[in-house]
Amino acid sequence: MAFTLPDLPYDYDALERSIDARTMEIHHTKHHGTYVNNLNNAIAGTEMEDMSLEELLANASKMPAAVRNNGGGHWNHTFFWEIMGPNGGGEPTGELREAINSTFGGFEDFKQQLIQAGLTRFGSGWAWLVMDDSGKLVVTSTPNQDNPLMDVAEVKGTPILGVDVWEHAYYLRYQNRRPDYLQAWWDVVNWDKVAENYANAKG
Ligand code: MN
Repeated sequence: MAFTLPDLPYDYDALERSIDARTMEIHHTKHHGTYVNNLNNAIAGTEMEDMSLEELLANASKMPAAVRNNGGGHWNHTFFWEIMGPNGGGEPTGELREAINSTFGGFEDFKQQLIQAGLTRFGSGWAWLVMDDSGKLVVTSTPNQDNPLMDVAEVKGTPILGVDVWEHAYYLRYQNRRPDYLQAWWDVVNWDKVAENYANAKG
């Protein structure tokens, strides 16, 4: 079964206060679209066609590079679109907020740790908040289109929140200023969706 590019859950200009419409359109149609096409081409006619995306990622070490890179790209971007939204911003509430406070000392400390993870990721990659196998929240980062669901990840776990720090995610508006993008990004984080991810990871 072939993978398909999901529609964005909002318009391209919906996140304008942090990410411009042109970046969103190119990022979705060209970058994410290409990951989907390349993934489909890489698995066509093989037994990988019968595996779910999560299975492909969990076995990334045994997969061809094209499956690891484009499968990761497809999963990561699908996740990324959903944790942003036009009504985003503010701060987490409820259980997620309590977990962030008890793990990181407070929301602001958590935010700085995630920004730092994004800034220190050399080249292209992602910064993540994940729940590890022991149920603990951890900030980590991955190179390229790797993610914490992969068996190759340094820190493995269930992604709760993640931010794309590839230049294609911010270059048109921010050029080389990744710190400015990572500051502005919080204004579009959809905390309802992030809280849902947290609740699902807790099980
Ligand atoms: Mn991207």
